[in-house]
Amino acid sequence: MPFSKFQLHPSILRNISALGYELPTAIQAQAIPVVLAGKDLLGIAKTGSGKTASFAIPILNQMLASPERSRNRQPKVLVLVPTRELAAQLVEVFSALSQSLPWDIKSLAVYGGVSINPQMKALYGVEILVATPGRLLDLQRSNAVDLSKVKTLVLDEADKMLNLGFKAEMQEIFKLLPQQRQNLLFSATLSKQLDGIKEVMLGDPVVIEIEEQVEAEAQINLAGYFVSDERKGPFLRHLIQDKDMHQVLVFTSSGRKADRVANKLGKNGIEALAIHGKKSQGARTTALRKFKSGELRVLVATDLISRGIDIDKLPYVINYELPRSPKDFVHRVGRTGRADAQGLAISLVTREETHHLKVILKKMKRYMDMVDSEGMEL
Ligand code: ADP
Ligand code: MG
Repeated sequence: MPFSKFQLHPSILRNISALGYELPTAIQAQAIPVVLAGKDLLGIAKTGSGKTASFAIPILNQMLASPERSRNRQPKVLVLVPTRELAAQLVEVFSALSQSLPWDIKSLAVYGGVSINPQMKALYGVEILVATPGRLLDLQRSNAVDLSKVKTLVLDEADKMLNLGFKAEMQEIFKLLPQQRQNLLFSATLSKQLDGIKEVMLGDPVVIEIEEQVEAEAQINLAGYFVSDERKGPFLRHLIQDKDMHQVLVFTSSGRKADRVANKLGKNGIEALAIHGKKSQGARTTALRKFKSGELRVLVATDLISRGIDIDKLPYVINYELPRSPKDFVHRVGRTGRADAQGLAISLVTREETHHLKVILKKMKRYMDMVDSEGMEL
């Protein structure tokens, strides 16, 4: 079924083509009519399956259909995301879909770590606001934004947004929103039973859950090596060189570890940068931009970058250390094998983590061949 079946505005259809999207993905095919109909929705579909456009397209179309423009500092659409990088990425998608519309629909990303003044100024006339919760509240307290006219609320990475880490801020934000609104929740790891969902919406939402593909045709191939902690550094370098990896995202469990791994790679002639919450926003933005463009060979990251970030045809992800939660594993390996691409996710596992690994794989309903690295020459 082509996008033209949805009765979308011709300029939006043109922008969809310009993005190179030929056919809707499964989540888009099902979510677009539900969002257009103004219903509440839980959209559950795997990483890289095009969830962003599944809400961005119908939201923009609805805005074009209603002649009423946002005035002053009263956005009509609020999209909440867990990280600054994801906020910036989503606004890129909204902007790409809003080219040459009959009238301008302004979207803006606001997030912390950069000065607030330019954001205060830029908020005037914004219709679609994409925000991280902390900075949104700062802006609201400074009267730079008024959330009382929000018609549609989107929680991208919804399970993360309803997690304990954001709870206090989210509750404060909910109080500022009108009760009557459309609520759209998306994630690859969202459960219909999640308690927080009742706090977001009054009635029952439409639930769209796209089934995972079977193992044989999985787009994200999993491989694992048993490696002791002491041998992980040399083993990582061996992997990168042996497989001639030109673009690889390496996950560690802490920012300090990420710095150390990146430094060590650099000393051995493999260009690497680290990205994590203790870095300045400037350094974060530069590292991710260089990595996305293919200029940087290795990006060593914490789970900061595990949610939502879209890197075109990224071929490799390496778990230098296993994450604690199976969900994080899903999101980390989901940075590869996106859209129609294939990817390989390699995990370095110590013998002591064997049980933990089993738990993760069982949750994912996946199997992974493990290779012992002990005898390998590095
Ligand atoms: P998700 O949020 O489900 O993880 P994204 O929305 O980030 O996935 O989309 C993943 C990638 O797929 C992006 O690069 C996006 O441009 C691309 N994409 C989205 N929809 C389509 C489509 N209909 N056809 C081709 N590529 C698409
Ligand atoms: Mg996404």
